[in-house]
Amino acid sequence: MAQFGTLNFGSLDASSQKKELDLNNPQEHHRLVIVGSGPAGYTAGIYAGRANLNPVLYTGLEMGGQLTTTTEVENYPGYPDGVQGPVMMEDFKRQAEKFGTDVRFGEVTRVDFGRRPFILVIDEEKVISADAVIIATGASAKYLGLENEQRLRGAGVSACATCDGFFYKDKVVAVVGGGDTACEEALYLAGLAKKVYMLVRKPYMRASKIMQKRVLDHPKIEVLFEHETVDVLGENKVEGIRVVHRRGKPDEKVYDIQIDGFFLAIGHKPNSDVFKPWIETDEVGFIKTECKSTRTNIEGVFAAGDVQDPIYRQAVTAAASGAMAAKDAERYLQELEEKEREQAQAKEEGN
Ligand code: NDP
Repeated sequence: MAQFGTLNFGSLDASSQKKELDLNNPQEHHRLVIVGSGPAGYTAGIYAGRANLNPVLYTGLEMGGQLTTTTEVENYPGYPDGVQGPVMMEDFKRQAEKFGTDVRFGEVTRVDFGRRPFILVIDEEKVISADAVIIATGASAKYLGLENEQRLRGAGVSACATCDGFFYKDKVVAVVGGGDTACEEALYLAGLAKKVYMLVRKPYMRASKIMQKRVLDHPKIEVLFEHETVDVLGENKVEGIRVVHRRGKPDEKVYDIQIDGFFLAIGHKPNSDVFKPWIETDEVGFIKTECKSTRTNIEGVFAAGDVQDPIYRQAVTAAASGAMAAKDAERYLQELEEKEREQAQAKEEGN
């Protein structure tokens, strides 16, 4: 029996709105479908377009991906004067389209990778089939879910120190989280800021011992254990946070800390739910790829960018893996065509 993933991002609850669709009669067939419109998806489009694979790219609901939520990008090679994240993604899109990628706004809400060609359902409306698929749906940073945290996103609240840390030179910032990412972000920020508070909710950190030592030994970083952030303060930009120390304990204390920047490092959620019935992921949901390739456990399905990368998560590394995925898909499609030719020839000779 076919299994189907449920929608995990966007506002539409596909599971409650699933239509009766005839999956045996796809409305269109494509050699290659790319899912996702961040640096990985568009770069896959550039390479696949140039290889004459006529790729179709579905953007997802957040066209352009995480970079459209950042301001200035200063670390992408080739932009010595920096570039606004949304502008850069528009450039990526134009470049993909220039080489023939058919960029379409729409979300893949279900897939069936148990048959060939593969089946993809778009917006619960349309059924298409594809010989190969590149998954480049990215990941979303987790936020605490506080009202003012959301209001001040981009005005002092950030989930990427590498992207936004530069704006906090000689300022005071706080990083939430106790994992390796939080340590890395705190250390990065300590190279720029005057002071870094690290807010860890437990009495200990989850990060590797070496990262913990680096953070604890750093003169500019103050680790506040057993601290939870309950509010972000400031009218038009972040001016402070309200924290609770030892919540629920007899010595519980609520107080405010003045800061200029508030960085979240409490993990990322890969956008892989819709593929999970078919594609192997780790326990967090990051898609597993074969060493030094973008191949997943299903032949003909490839994964690129943050959806398969819990560690580097940079635009440039995502773009690089998008190029790899297009090369892997190209090779796969060539082999598939050869196989089909041989089968047709054998059939003809048999007749
Ligand atoms: P992790 O899941 O390892 O850590 C998340 C941290 O955020 C934990 O300390 C967790 O606390 C905390 N947290 C979660 N939710 C909240 C919340 N609501 N309020 C406050 N704190 C919260 O994520 P990372 O992104 O740090 O790391 C992901 C993976 O990537 C890990 O395997 C890590 O080792 C790896 N990594 C490796 C690097 C390297 O090798 N250089 C660099 C970066 C990441 P709690 O512990 O209480 O649950």
